[in-house]
Amino acid sequence: MHLSRLFQRSVRMFGARPALAQGKAPALTYLELDRRVRALAHWLQAGLGLRPGDRVALAMKNSVEYAEAMLAIWHARLCAVPINCKLHPTETAYVLEDSQARLCLVQGDGADELRQASARGRDLQIVDVGSQQWLSAGVGTPAPDATVIDGGHELAWLFYTSGTTGKPKGVKLSHANLVAMAMNFQCDMLAIDETDVLIHAAPMSHGSGLYGVPYWMRGGLQLVPDSGGFDESELFSLLGHYERASFFAAPTMITRMLQHAGNADPALPGLRCIFAGGAPFYVEDIKAAVRCFGPRIAQMYGQGETPMTISALPAHVIGQAVALRDDDLLASVGYAQTSVDIDIVDEQGRPLPPGEVGEVTVRSPTVMQGYWRNDEASAQALAGGALQTGDVGLIDDRGLLHLKDRSKDVIISGGTNIYPREVEEVLLRHPRVREVSVIGAPDPEWGESVVAVVVALEPVGADELNALCLACMARFKRPKRYVFMDSLPKNATGKVLKGELKKRCAVEPMPS
Ligand code: AMP
Repeated sequence: MHLSRLFQRSVRMFGARPALAQGKAPALTYLELDRRVRALAHWLQAGLGLRPGDRVALAMKNSVEYAEAMLAIWHARLCAVPINCKLHPTETAYVLEDSQARLCLVQGDGADELRQASARGRDLQIVDVGSQQWLSAGVGTPAPDATVIDGGHELAWLFYTSGTTGKPKGVKLSHANLVAMAMNFQCDMLAIDETDVLIHAAPMSHGSGLYGVPYWMRGGLQLVPDSGGFDESELFSLLGHYERASFFAAPTMITRMLQHAGNADPALPGLRCIFAGGAPFYVEDIKAAVRCFGPRIAQMYGQGETPMTISALPAHVIGQAVALRDDDLLASVGYAQTSVDIDIVDEQGRPLPPGEVGEVTVRSPTVMQGYWRNDEASAQALAGGALQTGDVGLIDDRGLLHLKDRSKDVIISGGTNIYPREVEEVLLRHPRVREVSVIGAPDPEWGESVVAVVVALEPVGADELNALCLACMARFKRPKRYVFMDSLPKNATGKVLKGELKKRCAVEPMPS
């Protein structure tokens, strides 16, 4: 099934229902949204000359234009390339170059920086969704119904993640992948209907945007906060205004909401469910969240390569476990989602019995089609026909999946992945840095924070290293702490023992 066909089905089924709104402003109905989507699709095809399969990048904060653009891209049979809007322009330019995007939609003053950073100036069009061009496009000639020959196999979403090499890789997700994700959501996270509301408080370039799909499939309302992101008091106010409202949140966002609520009971009769995921959600934090918000917290475990879909714990199961003090269940990431077959395997890929720790592998119609223009990495990740997640865990005798650790050394800070190698490459550009190893250290606010362990040839200041990072990459990736050592601990084959470094940096307050 193609998402454009599914959206047209929703327009026929729910035409007069509210579909998309900003803040507390009146919503566009499904029929009104469809008119805009068709006009934008016509502009993409006839106005900009884009052809089926062309990539359109979205380098924007959350906005109603984001949701419109996603639907218009699919109606025009193009492929969306979501880009984290916090990336440095050179990092965005890398994604534009690798994906060979023909159009990049931006918002506000990002356009000029991006034009400068992008080497492909001539064949890449950059359009600001606040421009007259976009405004006119949204009210122009509507495109006819999308003719789709290819069913669900076309690419819908090219999501850039990073592998162990630290270089971002494009995860190829088809329409069929996203339809399967939406059906799993309905079965395993929350059964929704046309009275449900999704608030995009987390980035639409990641999970929140993807969860828009099940909402419009079921005739629900998607809502974008005026701030274009996460603001605790605004979110509380929206939850007081709307009924049956839910939102996706990284565990750190939930912790910040708890701090904001303090000892007050936020009541929030309009809150239906918080979908937590994307990073470890610790037992004590889950309990505090249930105490504050009631049994309205669900959890999912997924990854870009099988979006939002590996395992899940619905809200009533978490609520019950808190009541029964079943900490073991709370420490797990739940049961396999409906379409998912999970196997825990050893280093040779042989399935392990319950209780034994190995790599989590997944077979599911949500699993990606491979990496964009990277056959070697695709073959590795999909070896034997199953997705090798790079996560290590076990399935217990109740069928609950417990994640032990990530075999990749990805740092998850505030729900966003940071890849050590990328930061190491930048620090190694400093002439007085001899060796460096970047690790994640536990952080009560962010989950993990970036720590750089540096071996210097001659004394070098943390402020100099910080300035170098700021000049070369997004702010959120730069180390929060520098630890200087005479040498790095290594194993016999010369590999840095990151586990050892993590232990030392977690216990000893190092000079920075
Ligand atoms: P990404 O591809 O950016 O979505 O990152 C996916 C990775 O985040 C997974 O492979 C896990 O290591 C981690 N992750 C996602 N959800 C959870 C969760 N609920 N609990 C613990 N780790 C998670």
